[in-house]
Amino acid sequence: MTHPLPTYPVVSAAGVELVLSDGRKLIDGMSSWWAAIHGYHHPVLNQAVKSQLDKMSHVMFGGITHPPAVELCKQLVAMTPAPLECVFLADSGSAAVEVALKMALQYWQAKGETRQRFLTLRHGYHGDTFGAMSVCDPDNSMHNLYKGYLPNHLFADAPQCQFGDEWQPEDIDSFKRLLLQYHAEIAAVVLEPIVQGAGGMRIYHPEYLRQVRRLCDEYQILLIADEIATGFGRTGKLFACEHAQIEPDILCLGKALTGGYMTLSATLTTRHVAEIISQGEAGCFMHGPTFMGNPLACAVASASLKLLSDSPWQQPIQSIEAQLKAELRPLKSHHAVADVRILGAIGVVEMKRPVDVASLQRHFVQQGVWIRPFGRLIYLMPPYIIQPEQLSKLTHAIADSMG
Ligand SMILES: *Cc1c(COP(=O)(O)O)cnc(C)c1O
Repeated sequence: MTHPLPTYPVVSAAGVELVLSDGRKLIDGMSSWWAAIHGYHHPVLNQAVKSQLDKMSHVMFGGITHPPAVELCKQLVAMTPAPLECVFLADSGSAAVEVALKMALQYWQAKGETRQRFLTLRHGYHGDTFGAMSVCDPDNSMHNLYKGYLPNHLFADAPQCQFGDEWQPEDIDSFKRLLLQYHAEIAAVVLEPIVQGAGGMRIYHPEYLRQVRRLCDEYQILLIADEIATGFGRTGKLFACEHAQIEPDILCLGKALTGGYMTLSATLTTRHVAEIISQGEAGCFMHGPTFMGNPLACAVASASLKLLSDSPWQQPIQSIEAQLKAELRPLKSHHAVADVRILGAIGVVEMKRPVDVASLQRHFVQQGVWIRPFGRLIYLMPPYIIQPEQLSKLTHAIADSMG
């Protein structure tokens, strides 16, 4: 029998600190799963929610539009690659992925072709709803639990060639083989650019992504980039696709979109894809969440994106990256450590064996930090506003835990 893991009651949060009910403060190394990039209780973000609350907290988004959604969509179109001009707002990352998959399916349907398979990468993570789950890694997600219920997609080997290593041309072979064999059935390729998050915290070579884009162009298959974790500066670029200088046909955003204040996601696509979909039998894209374009969420997202754009955000991320390299890389020589990987404001220590999450978490809380390991991975993705001495507390807590 497994015992449920302990939980820690958090009663407030400010800056990079979470406050427990007994008054202890923990430095947050997780940004609440990639989301709270500006830290907690931010005066500008608080004000954005309060001002919007006094005007209108919600209104249906069918036959009605409103300034917070219009403003947010304009910002998203301006900051993402130029061909991405059309925005669909949804309420979670998983829903953004569902929307992206449906866009690809409707696109081919409108073109009169039956294409219903997706090609993706092992070790990927795209969310927990059924469509999203069907393109997650088949082994370390829940595919076994739902066997027979999930559609059968195509999984290429995960890239082995790491970011910063020398490119090995055979790294793309598995992907290429599947594409060549099944291209007539494939609606789209879906992947996390450069950093595979919850499926293994793997950071791969930009050349892999460049070749994926080239192959998609060659076979006229849509490319869906899931930047729900990597978007908004986390990897050192505004979007991880920029590391490979490529542009996707469909882009999924979420997590940090609202600075971690509320749940909201966006799926962007090109005018070409949107127009083809509109020429199809349905006449429009078929998806309509009740709380689509929630004004509170749009207002705080707008404020968060403005905070990011108006600040020299590359600077803190470069500093975080340099400090993570200085303080985590030496752990690579520890006998229990398999690998250390760092990119932008992401630091990953992969152990040789699965960690004991309960005891490790207790250790971290005793040290005054919040780090949530999983599997063999202990990793950090702190808020961008973290100060060097606070980041040191996080890295030292990790080093200490190894004795
Ligand atoms: C978290 C995540 C999702 C799912 O987002 P939710 O908001 O949890 O539904 C999808 N894709 C990636 C890459 C993610 O990191």
